[in-house]
Amino acid sequence: MRLATTLAGPMDHLAFLLPSTMILFAITFLAVGWSGPKSARAWGLAFLFGALGFIAPILPLPFALQSLLANAAFLVSFYCYGDALLLHFRAPRMIAPRIIFALLAYAMVIVAVEGFASLPLELTVADISVAILLGVPLASVIWRAHTLPDRVLVAVAGIVVLDIIVRLFIFNVLVGISPALSDFAASSYAYYNQVAVGVLSVGFALAAMGSIVSQMLAGYRSAAERDPLTGLLNRRGFDAVAAPMTPMGQGAAILLVDVDRFKLINDDFGHEAGDLVLAGLADILRSILPGTAVISRFGGEEFAVLIPRLSMAEAGALAHGIRLACSERDWRLCGVDRLVTLCVGVSLVLSEEPNWKAAFKRADSALYAAKDDGRDRVMFAKPDAYLAIERAA
Ligand code: GH3
Ligand code: MG
Ligand code: MG
Repeated sequence: MRLATTLAGPMDHLAFLLPSTMILFAITFLAVGWSGPKSARAWGLAFLFGALGFIAPILPLPFALQSLLANAAFLVSFYCYGDALLLHFRAPRMIAPRIIFALLAYAMVIVAVEGFASLPLELTVADISVAILLGVPLASVIWRAHTLPDRVLVAVAGIVVLDIIVRLFIFNVLVGISPALSDFAASSYAYYNQVAVGVLSVGFALAAMGSIVSQMLAGYRSAAERDPLTGLLNRRGFDAVAAPMTPMGQGAAILLVDVDRFKLINDDFGHEAGDLVLAGLADILRSILPGTAVISRFGGEEFAVLIPRLSMAEAGALAHGIRLACSERDWRLCGVDRLVTLCVGVSLVLSEEPNWKAAFKRADSALYAAKDDGRDRVMFAKPDAYLAIERAA
């Protein structure tokens, strides 16, 4: 994993191109990681130490020292690449075993360089070690890559590991490498190493940045679509999740849940107690409704629920379950020394309807009817509303 530095031809400029590119990547990732994800900082350190590894052979030092410096930098760099993958995919860090492995690997590099002064041995030990430092974290995160950018990232990381192993095999076993440490710079191994790492480090950096950006966007989108008080979807989230469900939403039920006289709860027991009631109601909804239900706090003290593939009878049973769970609950734990009741408006999405919007309006009318009827009620959307739609269809 070292650099070709024959100071005789146009290739010399490439010797500086690779570490400079890697330093630019390092600066970019460290800047993103400054106030962003930890994984960006790990990518930054990985590229920084990678650059140092490619700078070491340009330094005016004895070959053995160049080699020891370069290998130390590459081991740290690949430890950080592994760390970046584990952090990005929120996998266990395995810090102690990875550090112990890197230290043992470095001890073997010292033996190869100082003890045997053997270039093939040094390259074998160093390349297998860095391949393991990246390959093991990669193997442990591969099943966590679900989005396209994450899959691209693990694919590129896989190519980086393969490249190291295949290159080592081709040059060390098939072609053969001159045994002297001083021959490294002029070797075809070093030339190919430089070209491959040049191309792969650009791909690796782009794939990593793509994954980081897409993960950050997903985080912001989830924050924008969730209600912080109850942890349920908000209105935007409900729209986003319910919209693509329309084709299989046929026979889906809409439940609109609204707390009765909630304003009085706020007035009599305080806004904080009101908040606790809303959070408690969210728990009731989560515990009673099936896993397929899209549950949202649609606004204020109103909750909208869409449940796919449900009959009117099943929807009614769930609605009554919610109403009873609320009215029978002891809300004194939330600081509300009073019965809390609610109304539910229920409707079904009809097969002729392109989406849930019309059903939502009918459920809303049913909810108003429940309030008018005296509250603490479940009300179904009026049958004539269905008839009108059927006639229109
Ligand atoms: P009804 O039985 O007709 O539904 O009467 P209501 O008092 O429940 O309805 P209204 O729409 O008059 O009042 C809703 C209240 O909900 C008013 C508002 O202050 C309160 N509210 C809205 N959002 C929140 C919130 O996040 N926390 C708390 N504590 N109160 C909220
Ligand atoms: Mg209300
Ligand atoms: Mg309301």
